[in-house]
Amino acid sequence: MPDCLFCKIAAGEIPSNKVYEDETVYAFYDIDPQAPTHFLVIPKAHIPSVAGIRPENAALAGHMLEVIAKVAGELGLESYRVVSNVGQQAGQTVPHLHFHVLAGRDMTWPPG
Ligand code: 5GP
Ligand code: ZN
Repeated sequence: MPDCLFCKIAAGEIPSNKVYEDETVYAFYDIDPQAPTHFLVIPKAHIPSVAGIRPENAALAGHMLEVIAKVAGELGLESYRVVSNVGQQAGQTVPHLHFHVLAGRDMTWPPG
């Protein structure tokens, strides 16, 4: 989608610190990390948020979770948090589906 920051990052048009890439998924470190390890997993195709997951892209969404498990394992993460903000009230600032993966510090529950 034109003018989408994460579409541009997935396409390599905007530089990022990549941790994983395949045909459909891209993962990269967050520019403003909220934990010692903080990376984002995105689909290369534009989906606005979790609210845009449908039967036709559900396999892709499942693959994103598979990628999280794989990358977290490769990074040696034994405990981590997976977060996806949906909409303004939840704190979504980039309208392209992404899972945050945060690790390396104690975390509180419930999240703020
Ligand atoms: P959200 O607020 O939508 O849940 O998450 C968006 C995330 O994208 C934020 O954690 C923010 O720091 C990150 N972010 C925003 N712009 C960039 C960028 O240009 N590069 C990288 N690597 N991360 C970004
Ligand atoms: Zn996009």
